Amino acid sequence: MKAFFKTLWLIVKIAAMGALAIWIMQQQGDVAITLDQNGAPVIYEFALPVILSILVVGLLLLLSVMRLFDNAARMPGQIALKNERKKLQEGYQALTKSLVAIAAGDGHGAEKLAQQAAKKLGAPPLSLLVHAQAAQLQGDTGAASRFFHQLAADPKAGFLGLRGQLMQEMKIALTTGQVEHARRLAAEAETKEPRSPWVMQARFALEARAKNWREAEQVLVRGARFQAFTKDENKWYLAALQWMQSQEATTRDDARHLAKRAWETCPPLVPAAVHYAEILFAAGRRNSAADVIGKSWQSAPHPDLALMWMRLMPESDGDSIARVKWWDKLLLLNDRDPEAQILRARTLLDANLWGEARAALMKLKLTSSDARCYELLARLEREEKGDAAASAVWLAMAEEFNVPMWVCKIDGTRHSQFQTICPSCGSFASFRWQNPGQNLPAVIAA
Ligand SMILES: [Zn+2]
Repeated sequence: MKAFFKTLWLIVKIAAMGALAIWIMQQQGDVAITLDQNGAPVIYEFALPVILSILVVGLLLLLSVMRLFDNAARMPGQIALKNERKKLQEGYQALTKSLVAIAAGDGHGAEKLAQQAAKKLGAPPLSLLVHAQAAQLQGDTGAASRFFHQLAADPKAGFLGLRGQLMQEMKIALTTGQVEHARRLAAEAETKEPRSPWVMQARFALEARAKNWREAEQVLVRGARFQAFTKDENKWYLAALQWMQSQEATTRDDARHLAKRAWETCPPLVPAAVHYAEILFAAGRRNSAADVIGKSWQSAPHPDLALMWMRLMPESDGDSIARVKWWDKLLLLNDRDPEAQILRARTLLDANLWGEARAALMKLKLTSSDARCYELLARLEREEKGDAAASAVWLAMAEEFNVPMWVCKIDGTRHSQFQTICPSCGSFASFRWQNPGQNLPAVIAA
């Protein structure tokens, strides 16, 4: 459409020029110009079309010159625009390089590049974010906070700044237990993004760290609606919160009720299962307690369950064969797990069933990298044959292997006892039981 009007306008202009030329040529008459030269008048005579032609050409020339001047006047503006573009390009290049430096863990290089970017770009949100992350990499949390704070004031990218501030405060809050500042930031983030899964995860971590079990439970239930936690995580955390509430309950009924809920929510949470079994055992309900331990053993064989099972052993079953039978009851529920095989070998040794114990241990040795397998072989040599030398060889081998432990899934620290709050990073219910065999691929992957 634009091209059509342009062509039309050109045709109109040509037609007008043609009409003007014809009109000029048709004009009759002369123009006499009298000029005074040294007191004597000189008369110049021109035909009218010539004069009119000179006038029109002169006018067109004037218009062209004016346009030329106008363009010249615009030139500095165009140069400035070009410079501005170049500056922006260089700024974004520095910003990109700075992001690469952050990814590579080079905080100092990132900071220098971020400064270059800020000079060229002013202080757009992205440059502030890079500054903050570079400061974090260099361990300067104060500077990082300042940049995040500035970023939080940006009307469009403010949430990024708030998130950065919160993540930084979270670390401090979880390790020190001083959660108030982080909680305020989390509440602010929640009003801005009420459905954000990470805001819910942060709020949950903070409430649990502050041991506000009920509030943490509310956040967890709400978070489940927005997929802030996986189904398994949700059950594990919920059970841990109910277990904690059971421990703090003021009446026995409340304690038992909450312990039952915790165990039913997540039977593999071993300490909660042991806690419930202890409550039942103390109330004289040995069989119910054994059921609880048995069902948890099915999904998560663990030495603590075995210890509780031993406490539940009927007193009349004092002889060694009866003891093996009692253990078999548990082992039949899940005898494939390495933990079950270790337990089986130990019960056979306890009953002096040397042949069966040796067969079980030699079979386990083929696949296990559990130090306890070698310790049991050492014990077998000592107790069956009194062979101290053979025993010492097995013990030396045992030192080359690990034993299963509770491992914090957040910071990877290893612990012999389950703790609800990780003493190293302050995370709630972050311990997972890992036997050494499971551990190896993780080490290789890292
Ligand atoms: Zn931890």
